[in-house]
Amino acid sequence: MQESIKYLLDETRLPQAWYNIVADLPVPPPPMIDPDTGRPVTADALLPLFPEAVIEQEFSVERDIEIPRPVRDIYRQWRPSPLHRARRLEKALDTPAKIYFKYEGVSPTGSHKPNTSVAQAFYHKESGVKRLATETGAGQWGASLAFAGSLFGLDVDIYMIRASFEQKPYRRAMMESYGARCVASPSSETVVGRGMLARKADHRGSLGLAMSEAVEVARRRDDTGYALGSVLNHVVLHQTIIGAEAIAQMEMAGDYPDIVIACTGGGANFAGMAFPFIGAQLRGGTKTRVIAVEPAACPSLSRGKYAYDFGDAGHLMPLVKMHTLGSNFVPPGFHSAGLRYHGMAPLVSHVMELGLIEARSYQQSKIFEAGILFARTEGILPAPEANHAIRGAIDEALRCRTEGKSEVILFNLCGHGHFDMQAYMDHADGKLKDLDYDEGELAKSLAALPAERVAAA
Ligand SMILES: *Cc1c(COP(=O)(O)O)cnc(C)c1O
Repeated sequence: MQESIKYLLDETRLPQAWYNIVADLPVPPPPMIDPDTGRPVTADALLPLFPEAVIEQEFSVERDIEIPRPVRDIYRQWRPSPLHRARRLEKALDTPAKIYFKYEGVSPTGSHKPNTSVAQAFYHKESGVKRLATETGAGQWGASLAFAGSLFGLDVDIYMIRASFEQKPYRRAMMESYGARCVASPSSETVVGRGMLARKADHRGSLGLAMSEAVEVARRRDDTGYALGSVLNHVVLHQTIIGAEAIAQMEMAGDYPDIVIACTGGGANFAGMAFPFIGAQLRGGTKTRVIAVEPAACPSLSRGKYAYDFGDAGHLMPLVKMHTLGSNFVPPGFHSAGLRYHGMAPLVSHVMELGLIEARSYQQSKIFEAGILFARTEGILPAPEANHAIRGAIDEALRCRTEGKSEVILFNLCGHGHFDMQAYMDHADGKLKDLDYDEGELAKSLAALPAERVAAA
């Protein structure tokens, strides 16, 4: 198995293929469902949104999917991303465990997201569209797609949650610097947006709503494609370059992880890091404990229901089976915007059901403490989302100290926090409150799941 990964590295040590875990799963994942017919979605139904190559990846059962040369040539600017051993953090924790981390903050926009934005923009360009529409929360994904669009000469329209549009002007400025157009969502440009504004003129927006606006525009206009930053199979696939590189790099370091850890919003960076390791295990290799860390205020894996649900609030997208808090669930306002999504990638949900991964959640004061200790020992100021993975790694290292075990821990540092300084200031000022979601609201949201529409479920 490790031979095959080694074989896949090209002359600059970049993997030549993404890894598709579907090929190695003992049980195939449940299909996407058309909410109108209750039957599995066909490739044709997705053509108004995505290029054929992307749709093929969405349904693919091939294990290795070649990364096109032009995509690799762009990846090379920051890939392979570095893998470090956190020796000073180990020392501060006085742990016999070895802690390694893979750093995705070296990409042009500071996170793992360009791994897929570049690939998606490439395939859209090849298919002949002129414009991409997408949604963004705090702007990590919007900035990454704006960057990729600028490389391929595509116009990019970004529907940005109104609350972030107003409160987070820096990432908006970044998107506009790349040449993208940023629109506060809900907007008056779409039927979905106008409908929402008519009901509530001062609507603050949500990721699911912005998603519906972008999907509506891409469906309506032939010259416009849709791109999204997480959740779907093809996005998860593009992120597996993280784990594929990490396997080769751990081998260079002469170690193999006992534990792999990453944070989960929609599940893309987690799957990107973990799936190549889970695949190695499924093909008879070493068993690895895999831990997904999520915010206590939006715990889709730990508290959500595994059921068919909509990915977007306007219900324009197909139903997917996933761990979900319900598409109407609105989490309290905590400081990790990238982890506020109501659902989880169907493939991550599926491996959770198969018992291949564990999930745990933390309150924000605990994760910021971890991020500060990491910054003071390793020098990198992490994205708040990444602090969840760091907290998980630290707690495992502390368990190793208690048990006197020298386990090898690998976590994904999915981005830097240079655009998140308000969160660090709030933490320093003691203003970060631990927030709980409303149990009553969650029960209501779960009761509204669209189960009866799914004949095949
Ligand atoms: C978007 C984002 C996330 C959450 O997305 P996943 O799909 O769960 O990876 C996490 N961290 C950072 C830095 C992000 O930008």
